[in-house]
Amino acid sequence: VRKSIFLLLFALAIGSSWAFSRSGTVATVSAQTTPIEMPIELVIVTPKKSKPTRKPASAPASIQGSPVCDVLRQYPRSESGALAFEKGEISPLCRPFIRQKERAELDRCGDLKRDPYVSHYTWSSRNEMTKKGKANLYTDPEFQPQLSALFERVEEIREASAKLCCGDDSQCRALMAAVKIDVCRPHEDPDSPDPCVFGGSYRMPGKGYASVFRAIQRQYSGEETAELKRLASRNLSVDEMRDPEAAAEPVSGTIVLSSYVSKKLGIASIEPVVMHEFGHACSMIKMQQMALSASSGDTLAQAHRAVQWLDRARARCKADVDLPESYLDFWESLGESRDLAQCFYRLTKANQDQTVDRTCSNLCPGHFLEETVGVAFSLLLGKLDGSPGAAFPGTCDHVRDGQHPMVSDVVDCMAQHSLRFRERLRQMNHCDG
Ligand SMILES: [Zn+2]
Repeated sequence: VRKSIFLLLFALAIGSSWAFSRSGTVATVSAQTTPIEMPIELVIVTPKKSKPTRKPASAPASIQGSPVCDVLRQYPRSESGALAFEKGEISPLCRPFIRQKERAELDRCGDLKRDPYVSHYTWSSRNEMTKKGKANLYTDPEFQPQLSALFERVEEIREASAKLCCGDDSQCRALMAAVKIDVCRPHEDPDSPDPCVFGGSYRMPGKGYASVFRAIQRQYSGEETAELKRLASRNLSVDEMRDPEAAAEPVSGTIVLSSYVSKKLGIASIEPVVMHEFGHACSMIKMQQMALSASSGDTLAQAHRAVQWLDRARARCKADVDLPESYLDFWESLGESRDLAQCFYRLTKANQDQTVDRTCSNLCPGHFLEETVGVAFSLLLGKLDGSPGAAFPGTCDHVRDGQHPMVSDVVDCMAQHSLRFRERLRQMNHCDG
């Protein structure tokens, strides 16, 4: 039986010019534009030839006991061992569950037709989506009731995300609670390319960046924090800096979700997307908080790394961008290991240096690093038992493109360095029973 596979490509775009023209093509990013915007997008693509390895309904039973549990016993592997991507392999955890057996089959980076970050990529139309087994929550009467169910589910996921992101930090919780949710309205013309097919995005408007830069600029005085002030100031125009009415505080941003869902699975099909996007919201919120928290030596160094992250937002797609170090602090603040963060750096660096997979001229190193957060969030929050809409192994075949590492590579880092992830996998697949 053929099943259309959802390929959820998660993206984080920066630069206010990440606009969708009416013809449905993605405009290219121009790095110098201000203000900075940060839509983080996720594409739902249905490849024509994809066949699932299993029907979702039979997956939970078939992944129980094996091969997940057998493979999981190999982790963590010896410290000296190379990671799957360094050996040119697909992660042994993902491999049994996907049709693709070679990395090249999961690599779309720079592909003119299939990488959404190449300038001439075209979205599917609503009618094309229908043929691919997708319904629209606004226009398909049968699926309209699921729209309110989606909003309810989003609130449950928000709660779980905030717990993972913030622990007991009430300011962080309040910022997560303030993340706005939109569901994208499809193009009126069912035959026009529809940017709403993008599964989800996280957006931080230019004025959001201005708000936090103003807060940083106003908060710090004195020699020790002079560099923080300087970095914030250079991101503000004279008018933006002086406006006494303008906000000067951390900003939560907006998640925009696709209104297209799988006809078979309904809104469950976009649950991993919602978790993914809350991951981006979390990193944005944490970076702002850290940027504003300099006091002692440790927090000063941490604030410096966070301000650098904000400052380099525009340069994320520069091939030689210096990767911001703030994700080390970020992952530690979530109770994950420094080694996990370092693994994500190692993965991103290998892609940036073009030492894995095919050479890709439009690769955005800064996005790759941020996308590891989105992917990791769906694996730390979502179901891992192969049930309908489960993040694992359901997202194992998600491809590498101009802004995303292969999900399989993120899975490999997590299996190696996240106790939390291994425990979740073990529990949900009943490996100990
Ligand atoms: Zn993303």
